[in-house]
Amino acid sequence: MPSDNVLIIGGGPAGLEAARLLAGIGTRVTLVEKRDFLGGTPIAERYAALTHGFHDAEEMMNKMIQDVTNSPLVDVRLGSTVTAAEGEAGNFKVTVVKSGNGKGEDIVEAGAVIIATGFQHFDPGRETQMYGYYEYDDVITLADAEGMLKDGHFNKPSNGQVPERVCFIQCVGSRDRQIGNEFCSKVCCGISSKQAIEVRQVSPSTKVFIFYIDMRMYGYWENEIYWPAQEKYHVQYIKGIVTEIIKKGDRLLIRGEDTTMGRPMEVPMDIVVLAVGMEASMGTRQMAQIFGVKQNKYKFIDVPHDALNPVGTSVPGVFVAGAAAGPKDLDDSISMAGTAAIQAAGLVRKLAAV
Ligand SMILES: Cc1cc2nc3c(=O)[nH]c(=O)nc-3n(C[C@H](O)[C@H](O)[C@H](O)COP(=O)(O)OP(=O)(O)OC[C@H]3O[C@@H](n4cnc5c(N)ncnc54)[C@H](O)[C@@H]3O)c2cc1C
Ligand code: SF4
Repeated sequence: MPSDNVLIIGGGPAGLEAARLLAGIGTRVTLVEKRDFLGGTPIAERYAALTHGFHDAEEMMNKMIQDVTNSPLVDVRLGSTVTAAEGEAGNFKVTVVKSGNGKGEDIVEAGAVIIATGFQHFDPGRETQMYGYYEYDDVITLADAEGMLKDGHFNKPSNGQVPERVCFIQCVGSRDRQIGNEFCSKVCCGISSKQAIEVRQVSPSTKVFIFYIDMRMYGYWENEIYWPAQEKYHVQYIKGIVTEIIKKGDRLLIRGEDTTMGRPMEVPMDIVVLAVGMEASMGTRQMAQIFGVKQNKYKFIDVPHDALNPVGTSVPGVFVAGAAAGPKDLDDSISMAGTAAIQAAGLVRKLAAV
């Protein structure tokens, strides 16, 4: 007898949205999250404000979490992951293992599966682009910057002083053939511009610069973030390549080339923010293996190259949503989750009716 349950792996924005929509149309869900809490990367990495609209990230995510945890149709398994799977569309039997307190193992039956295991930030200590992240306290990543902004300040990690000059370096770990990440991470131009605005808001005396190869933004990111960053907040965008960061006194010296002017540059900064890209999370890689789902060259889950079906995978009955399928902002992750939810619900109902 086919199962009418949908298994969702990953309790970030995409997994939560799929779960609350499925429950909303009366479909049973088992939601498996490896961490001890829901909310995904925005909660785990302590994001400050989410676009559109610069809303408080924790408040926004808590609303989604409550919709899911309040539903009697969603069985939430925290601190758990999937270690094995067998069967086919309509009849998957999946081994869910809980670690930590109350550890144990259990077989969950599901008619369809949604993989929503997300992304991880590029590790800026890895290979080519050595910007001194592990050497200098004042070289930080976008995720570190979110944490500071959440705490309501943007001070130099090395000595707590308000910075005079802050810069962002774009495309760290993305669009880089040498490490095999030729892809664009899609969100980091927008997030850097968002943070540049927030830095100017908490510290109006700080000058902010963005060093970019080219700025890639679309839709609301351009109108609500990019243009106000320049026109209202006077963030300075410089087309250039940074090749080296060295310490000079208690400041950092940025060396590289201003490619518009075609001349070398050497500028002092107090904080450097590395716009690290998005890579497939370990969970995404593992789930692809366990369910036998095809991955693309970058280990994200491969979706059929079909604009009308962005959530199908190479295995019938297994769908993907959010950043598990490649770099995505929240709009895209949430839209995919809705499509995956309705396809999964349609499938389990169809098979149950046979
Ligand atoms: C610094 C930064 C700031 C950002 N700010 C914004 C913004 O303001 N606006 C915007 O639109 N986008 C923003 N983004 C993008 C946003 O974070 C992503 O679009 C979103 O997190 C994707 O959601 P997801 O659910 O697909 O993945 P994730 O948020 O990564 O969630 C995946 C979940 O799956 C779980 N998981 C992983 N492996 C397993 C496993 N094996 N078993 C069980 N569970 C597992 C994880 O623990 C996690 O809870 C930002 C990105 C960055 C890098
Ligand atoms: S979004 Fe911008 S910073 Fe991120 S990889 Fe693409 S071009 Fe580079």
